[in-house]
Parts: sequence; C-alpha cells; structure tokens
Amino acid sequence: MPSDSAPASPDPASPPAAAPGNWLNRFAALGPAFFTELPPQGMPSPRWVAHSPGCAEQLGWPSDWWEREDWQALQVFSGNAQWPGMRPMATVYSGHQFGVWAGQLGDGRAHLLGEVATPQGALEIQLKGAGITPYSRMGDGRAVLRSSIREFLCSEAMAGLGIPTTRALCLSASDLPVRRERLETAAIVTRIAPSFLRFGHFEHFAHTDQHEALRRLADFFIQHHAPECQAASSPYAALLERVATQTASLIADWQAVGFCHGVMNTDNMSMLGLTLDYGPFGFMDGFDPGHICNHSDGQGRYAFARQPNIAFWNLHALAQAFMPLMPGPREAAGEALLQALEPYKTEFAQGLLRRMRAKLGLQTAQDEDRQLIDDWLRLMAASRADYTQSFRRLSAVTASEDPAHLRDLFIDREALAAWLQRYRARLQVEASDDAERAARMRGVNPAVVLRKHLAEIAIRQAQQGDFSETQRLLKVLQRPYDEAERPSDTALAPDWAQTLEVSCSS
Ligand code: AMP
Ligand code: MG
Repeated sequence: MPSDSAPASPDPASPPAAAPGNWLNRFAALGPAFFTELPPQGMPSPRWVAHSPGCAEQLGWPSDWWEREDWQALQVFSGNAQWPGMRPMATVYSGHQFGVWAGQLGDGRAHLLGEVATPQGALEIQLKGAGITPYSRMGDGRAVLRSSIREFLCSEAMAGLGIPTTRALCLSASDLPVRRERLETAAIVTRIAPSFLRFGHFEHFAHTDQHEALRRLADFFIQHHAPECQAASSPYAALLERVATQTASLIADWQAVGFCHGVMNTDNMSMLGLTLDYGPFGFMDGFDPGHICNHSDGQGRYAFARQPNIAFWNLHALAQAFMPLMPGPREAAGEALLQALEPYKTEFAQGLLRRMRAKLGLQTAQDEDRQLIDDWLRLMAASRADYTQSFRRLSAVTASEDPAHLRDLFIDREALAAWLQRYRARLQVEASDDAERAARMRGVNPAVVLRKHLAEIAIRQAQQGDFSETQRLLKVLQRPYDEAERPSDTALAPDWAQTLEVSCSS
C-alpha cells in the first residue's frame, strides 16, 4: 500500500497547561523489547469530524474538552502536538492471519500515547492512522476517512449495545491524500481501552523464543488487568481460562446481535475480550448464517456462523504461546492449558442460549427452548428475514395477534404462523404479560444497528466535507434500543446497498 502522501508538517502547538497531566505510561516501564518510542506523524489542517461525549466522561474530562483553547485537543489527536507526560510508542506483535502464521506485524499505524488514570482504572489512549512505525511493513501508516468513520461509529455503537469493545474518543480528518484503490484522504481515530494487548502480542514473544519477555508480559498483564489470577495455583493457566471465558461471552454477544467481525486473525483478538480493530465488519441484514462480510475472505473462513469456532481456534494459538510459561513436563503443561480452554464451550453455548431466551422474551428455562430458538433462526434464514427487525418486531406479538410488519419479513407465512403458535404456547407456560414482555424485548433487541448502508450515507457526506450525518448517527447508535429518530435509521437495507463491498482496504 504505497502512498504518495507527503509527511505532514506539524502545526506547532505549545504544551497547554491545563491539559490532563495524570499520565501513567505503565506499558513503557516494560522496556524496549515491547515497543518503539516515536512521535505520531500529524495531518495538516485537521478538522473535527466527531467526538464521543460518553468516552470523555469515562476519562473524567469536561464536556468541552475538545474545544478548549488551552487543551489544543484537535492538534493532539491529529498527531500534531503532544501533552506533557505522553510517551508515544508503537508496540510489537505477531499473529496468525487467515489461519497462517504471518510473523511480525505490530502497530503498523497505531501510536499508544499513554495511559490516563481514572477512578475506574487506567485507560490507554491510542491514535490510529498517525503515520508509519517500524512495524508498518509495506503500509503507509495512514487510515482513510471511510474506514475511520466505520471504526469510530461502530466502536460507539457496540458500547451502546452493551457489547465489550475498545471505545472511540474522537475522529479528525484532513485533506492529506492517501492512496488505496483510489485516492482518498486521511483521518485519525483516537481509541481508548484499558489495554490494547492482543493474542498476537504473546504469540510474538513465544514464536521468537523470547521467553523471558513473554513471562514479563504475562506478569504485567496479570498484575494490571487480571489480578485475581495471581492467587491461582497456575496463574498462566488461570489467565488463559479468563481470556477464554471473556472471549466466549464476547462471541455470544456478537452472534446474538448479528455482528460479523470479518477479520478474526489472532492479532485482532483482545486479551480483555473486547471487540477490537473494526475493518470489514458488518451487521447482518437478511439472516444468512454463511454470511461473509469481508470481500477479501473468499473462503469464508470468517463467515458469521464460523465465528465461535474461529475464536476457539484463536484461543488454541494463544494456549500454544503460553506453553513456554508453564513449568514441568510439556505434556502436562499442554494438558493444563487445554483444560483452561474447556470453559469456552459451555460459556459460549450457555451464554448464547441465555441471550436468545432474553431476545425471545422468555424468563424461565425450558428444555424445549433450544429447539424453539433453532427453528426461529431456521425460519429467518429460509426467508433471509432481516435479523435486527425480526427480533424487534417479534416483541409486538400478542396472545391474539401476529403483527403484519413481522409477517412482511417472511416468505413462508404458514411456517411463521405455525412457529408463532408454538411461541405463544411457550409464553403461556410462564404466564407472560404481552405489554411487559414487549418492553423487555425492546430493551435487548436493538432498533438500530450500524448497517452498511447507514455508514455509507454518513461516509459519502463526510467525503463532501459535511460531518453532520456522522454526528447524528453517533447519537442514534449510542441509544440503539430507543425507537429510532428517523424511519430510515431502522429501515431494511435498500437495493443499492446490496452491491456495497467492504474489504481489508482501510
Ligand atoms: P488489520 O488487517 O487492519 O488488522 O492489520 C493487520 C496489520 O497490518 C497490522 O499490523 C496493522 O498495523 C497493519 N496495517 C494495516 N494497514 C496498514 C497501513 N495502512 N499502514 C501500516 N500498517 C498497516
Ligand atoms: Mg488489526
């Protein structure tokens, strides 16, 4: 991905006195084997595209942080200036991409600026798209406005849905040209998370035989992010089990909401079970278990229905990386790590069942539920019924009425009616109250998700210099369970959206 973009000349900015000064830089204390310190490369004449008040609140910043004269936040989060105490760096990681060992990858276009202490714990702040690093390989270190809007909006949409994710504090854009399939312009997303460590960080030190560094990284992670593992008889196996359990819960969230990540390489898997690295992701429109959202994924390795197995495969890669940490004979060590992965299966299966029951408005657990849920999904798949709207409209079913707007989503109306009879009988078992259940179902089945075409409309306007739709969509996506602001926010994908393709190009 060569770029003909010239390096940006930073707009000089004097260090603002009132900017947050409580930087921790705990990762920096690990030492140079883990990162390269280097300043971000800025963008000329940056503009704000959007910022997330929810993130600022998490950081404990005032609501006007982004426009305060004395903070110069636009310059800082466009890579043109730094606040005192920041220690920008790119970290090194490796990973398996599409099932194949890819060797060293690393933060090819991400700069960790440091950590901010908050009452809820420290949060790392990272710029994505602020120029090349020693890990950029053939890349230009940049991110285009199109993919940055998708990452910004989806990070905050996931948070709104209550799904674990890295957050997006703000998004800035510039006229700096960036070459992809065509010439586009640069943007920088500022992400925040308690930790951006990935499975790939651990794989890196295991595969390069840097076992002492591997142990220091694992100890660092346990100390700061998984302290309960310290007391376990085998802290590293306990850590693996923790990651397996959190990952299972995350994937259950994804499957329940119809989210397809698109590039579940091990370097995109968070050690904290967060949704990480938004690339060619997609929310399901018409339900298709085999849906492939990444145009570059010809084999469908990361198809929707495969995500649970792929996550488990990735956890095995992480277990492999943990091998050098384990004392004693290899065989016993391997066995202990495999055992630590076991809870993934039940956590995922039970977690998904629990979420599906809630989506159907069921409050008790009956043996027949699994079959009822499977048949509902089969029915949806047979009609390619809209995933989000099928669940949302199901909430309007009453003892006596099949709502027309639900029927409209299905081709085989008889099969739907037959299933609804079973559903009603099941609701009677727990004496479900229609109105109360409808309200509960609307609280777990979103009205609005970031459909590809919604993002596309915001992107096209932003590419013309109008960021108002990105900002409006952010507000709507932060409250996805509310009735939508506009009918078009919940509408099914229009015909023109069928041909939209998202790939790894970003
Ligand atoms: P991704 O497919 O986005 O998860 O990226 C895989 C690897 O490629 C990561 O190490 C990224 O940092 C790196 N990468 C992706 N795009 C670029 C780019 N434009 N410049 C430099 N590195 C990149
Ligand atoms: Mg990545």
